[in-house]
Amino acid sequence: MVRVVDRAIESMNTEPLFERYPGGGTSAYNPVMMLKVIVYAYADKIYSSRKIAKATRENINFMWLTGNIQLDFMTINRFRSERLKGIIDDIFTEVVGLLLREKYIKFENYFLDGTKIEANAGKYSWVWGKSTSRYKENLRKKVIEHLTAINIIEQEETEEYGNADLPEMGNGKPINSESIREAAAKIDEKLTANPKDKALKKAKKTIEKDYLPRMEKYEQQEKILEERKSYSKTDIDATFMRMKEDHMKNGQLKPGYNVQMGTENQFVTGFSIHQRPGDTSCMKPHLEHLKELHGKLPKNIVADAGYGSEENYEFLETEKVEHFVKYNTFHKEKSKKWKKDVTRVQNWYYVEERDEYICGYGRYLSFLYEKKQKSDNGYESLVRVYECEDCSDCPLRDQCVKGKKPDADRRIYVNRRLNELKGIAKAKLDSKKGLEMRSKRPIEVESAFGDIKGNFGVRRFLLRGLEKVKIEWGLYSIGHNMRKMAAARG
Ligand code: SF4
Repeated sequence: MVRVVDRAIESMNTEPLFERYPGGGTSAYNPVMMLKVIVYAYADKIYSSRKIAKATRENINFMWLTGNIQLDFMTINRFRSERLKGIIDDIFTEVVGLLLREKYIKFENYFLDGTKIEANAGKYSWVWGKSTSRYKENLRKKVIEHLTAINIIEQEETEEYGNADLPEMGNGKPINSESIREAAAKIDEKLTANPKDKALKKAKKTIEKDYLPRMEKYEQQEKILEERKSYSKTDIDATFMRMKEDHMKNGQLKPGYNVQMGTENQFVTGFSIHQRPGDTSCMKPHLEHLKELHGKLPKNIVADAGYGSEENYEFLETEKVEHFVKYNTFHKEKSKKWKKDVTRVQNWYYVEERDEYICGYGRYLSFLYEKKQKSDNGYESLVRVYECEDCSDCPLRDQCVKGKKPDADRRIYVNRRLNELKGIAKAKLDSKKGLEMRSKRPIEVESAFGDIKGNFGVRRFLLRGLEKVKIEWGLYSIGHNMRKMAAARG
């Protein structure tokens, strides 16, 4: 395998590696040699910088790659974390190019899936978005009360705004760290005029020592959270997610990253790291990234039901790629039970001219209103809501009406565009090509994940932060591809 790695990296464009050395200067070690060492180490299941350094002293294959130069672990660490920053995609793209040239892949089929990998962060190091908002709101109320008590905010203002956020505080600012600082300055002014005012002195101390630092802390947390619901204090880029591997069997959320990866002939041909736990919202950014790297998308894209959303189907249609992406009810819809279920909308009759549905008990469901739904990526879907005229005496009521209210009538939520797109997806999935692609999926990307996670023991990231985690997974993927190339050569 060492020769495969050596030859592969020699044949690649390694220019980006040299561009990482500012001012055209060079490091003490040849970056191409360093890359070979790192890639070979990852292909050989050696991930720790100390163990890699040891291997350059003791392992003949590493010695051959380095030309008998012994590397120390700091040099390896620096190269991996700093020199590869921002160029891991370039290096990975070069590897995919090599696989194409050597005909291991055609970049034609793309089997996509996602997995969650635990971050190198404390399991109990969470910051929850909801708690931050709640604490911040409580603090805001306390600050208003406090400032009103010492007449920094006028009584009328407090009453006017009550418990709602104060859009104006003296100079027209909401309650935040900036306005608290301004309030402290106002107290200072008052103290200058009246230096012996004990109440003012105490208030100033509370504001500066307690309220202000707390408000700054919550603001900082909100800045880190952005759209996320949580993050870890020990790796602020990691989000708390439910992992597949739940050894304690308690459904505990752990800090981690969502890795999206695509394969062809079990070679990794694309990957990206996400901070969102759901696969659905990762597909579009993942494929956009893939297109940016390779200048085009593969001809056929295959993915499981976790990706079957309106936004994703629309994207695949717009990009004009053949797609074989299931939706959540794809298999269930084929069962006899489903087809005979008179409470399912799919088995009801739609009267187009009246825009009404006729349910399994012969009652009409009329259009109520239309609502917009936004995905995590901001994609808007239109959902039409219909309600049954009267479900009160229907013998199917218990099965059909899910609402808790005893007098509620059945409501259905119809996304017409999604239904159309599902129809297109179904035809593709049931075609000859679709069956072929679907049968390949489990032996494609799932076996690549199995190799990296199972055989090569990648259960937790070693590095911290999105950028470094990306480098790490890039190296695991390149290592996996090198092993497969070596195996194919025999
Ligand atoms: S519960 Fe209402 S919607 Fe459902 S089958 Fe009966 S009448 Fe129709």
